[in-house]
Amino acid sequence: MPTARFSAKPAVRSANAHTRANYNYSPFHQSLLHENNGEDYALRHLYSLENTKALLTKWGWTSEQVKTGIDHATIDVYKNIVYLHICNKIIKRGQTIKIRGISRFISKADYVGILIERCWAKADPYKLEPGSDWDELIARGNTGDFYELKLYKHEVTCTCHAYSGIEKAFEQDSIATKHLMLNVKTQGQIPDKHIFAVWKYIGAETQRQYEYCWLNRRDAAVNEMRGKQWEFDPDLEPERELLDW
Ligand SMILES: [Zn+2]
Repeated sequence: MPTARFSAKPAVRSANAHTRANYNYSPFHQSLLHENNGEDYALRHLYSLENTKALLTKWGWTSEQVKTGIDHATIDVYKNIVYLHICNKIIKRGQTIKIRGISRFISKADYVGILIERCWAKADPYKLEPGSDWDELIARGNTGDFYELKLYKHEVTCTCHAYSGIEKAFEQDSIATKHLMLNVKTQGQIPDKHIFAVWKYIGAETQRQYEYCWLNRRDAAVNEMRGKQWEFDPDLEPERELLDW
């Protein structure tokens, strides 16, 4: 049998923590699981293993404890809250080993907060370039790919995959969206590393500051445009001639 070395891209698989066969997930969790796993946006972007690992680290777990524990985690998303379970005993090569465990409910605000923190930490304003207009910026990736950022008065949008995935994640979870709106930093802005790079680029750390910086940026652009029109206004020429007289 020849080996399929150039097989098509493997289908996206959701994490074990979200799909354990021997665990009875809440109806809301089940509603977040789709036939096409690629559409499990809330589980992939909000209640992800990466966000869970960051939360455990924040709660004082060592990197070793996180690394061992995350493979045994069960993440069950309820309508209003998330249940995280890591058993404190595992069986390895026939031996029972004690590990650090956890069994508790977590606020969705914590998951939204950690997503925002992680996007903020990854945001690099030095990877941005000016776009064709004052309300556009371009984020360039390492492999020559680039994404367009549009600066609106009340939000920034990005053309990258993460942005659309995170946007769909919040569409699937109204309680998470509520926490995104209540978050003092974002006030509803979809968190994405390119968008936070824009914030850093124009000198904002919160949505409120962004809106203020946006107004200044627009005024500066409008003034610059007026200045140019003044310079090139041919109607002004005769007046200058008269003055010379
Ligand atoms: Zn982006």
